[in-house]
Amino acid sequence: MPIYEYRCDGCGHEMEVMQKMSDDPMKDCPVCKESKLKKLISASGFRLKGSGWYETDFKNYKKSSGNNSGSQSSGGCGGSCGCH
Ligand SMILES: [Zn+2]
Repeated sequence: MPIYEYRCDGCGHEMEVMQKMSDDPMKDCPVCKESKLKKLISASGFRLKGSGWYETDFKNYKKSSGNNSGSQSSGGCGGSCGCH
């Protein structure tokens, strides 16, 4: 049975759940009881690389979005983010 990783958008709780492919994805977080669980990509091998990239990217995103909370650009980078 494949193992799926979930992360809760509400409290940040992460967990691994063994599920059948045919099972519905879980939604309810066991910690905060909110329906904010999101399934993460968890193919083994890809996972280590992926989670490292994901964490760094997520932190940067949080930081910059906090600084620019006033301005609303049309999504993604407007050329001033250094990713070009
Ligand atoms: Zn939670």
